[in-house]
Amino acid sequence: MNQTETQRPDFDFENFTFGVQSTDRMLVAAYQKGEWSAYRISPVQAISLSPLAMCFHYGQTVFEGLKAFRMADGKINVFRMESHWKRMNRSLERMAMPPLPQDLFMEGIEELLKQESDWVIDDPEYSLYIRPFVIATEKKLGVDASQEYLFMVVLSPMRAYYNKPLKVKVETDYIRAARGGAGAAKNGGNYGASLLPQINAKKAGFDQIIWLDAKEKQFIEESGTMNILFILDGNRLVTPALSDSILDGITRDSLLKLAEEEGFSVEERPIAIEEICQRIENGERVEAFGAGTAAVISPIETISYNGKSYGTYLAADAGMYRLKNQLSSVRVGKHPDKYGWNH
Ligand code: PMP
Repeated sequence: MNQTETQRPDFDFENFTFGVQSTDRMLVAAYQKGEWSAYRISPVQAISLSPLAMCFHYGQTVFEGLKAFRMADGKINVFRMESHWKRMNRSLERMAMPPLPQDLFMEGIEELLKQESDWVIDDPEYSLYIRPFVIATEKKLGVDASQEYLFMVVLSPMRAYYNKPLKVKVETDYIRAARGGAGAAKNGGNYGASLLPQINAKKAGFDQIIWLDAKEKQFIEESGTMNILFILDGNRLVTPALSDSILDGITRDSLLKLAEEEGFSVEERPIAIEEICQRIENGERVEAFGAGTAAVISPIETISYNGKSYGTYLAADAGMYRLKNQLSSVRVGKHPDKYGWNH
């Protein structure tokens, strides 16, 4: 029996681990001699690559992460698809990899979703995660930019999870990205390098890390693999300004726009870790949370810095929950889509 017909009917949408199960079909296109081929959609299967393929050696790998939802009107929505395509091309450019034409990315994903539409179930707690990626496939051991690539898209079911507030540790030894580096690209290497500090933090009893800037180790950059935002005094949304060491998060950008509508003032600026600790110590109300496609927001409960723990504001009236609800409502068509985010 064809694999394409077997997985979906048996899949238990109530009980599964994210990222282990793909849907039944995948998309593939190849880049050779300066051109992308048309895409092909096939059953999910292993791919065969030479051990000399450059992705195994020099880190030319780029990925994206976006989601499809079943809307209130029954249609399938891919949230901010064009923004993800643009960001993927910025990442590809930084890694000396060829850009993806817009129609290959967007029409390819649309067609894949059409064929896999029964994986986008009508349940507000559920979404289908879309993972586009590009890898270098030229056979060559010399350090160089590959002349051949594969673009692939796989899909994986995801449930919204209740995010337990996180205990985070400010990382003062390792850094995630430096100015002039590739931290603003969704390149595999950035994630590989973040694992050891993350594992060490877990061993020490923390859920996640806050990354500081590489030079002075004074300014807050990101939290784990999420952007970090703060709400001060209940109505000031503050987040580090973007740079080439911070990923330009699409959730971050969406929250900033919705926050203005909701009457928050928005500040994008350098935020010293000392400032946050000082405010908490002074008894000010400080909300802290991570923002990303996977969880929308992850509230932070305590921030540990130089051995001292600082507790944030988490009560039910915290502004971050309001922002999260707004964003979730836009994505399923229950709140006006003023910015044309739904596709
Ligand atoms: N920072 C990093 C390092 C990430 O990997 C992600 C997840 N893509 C984010 C921030 C959040 O980005 P987005 O909101 O686009 O998912």
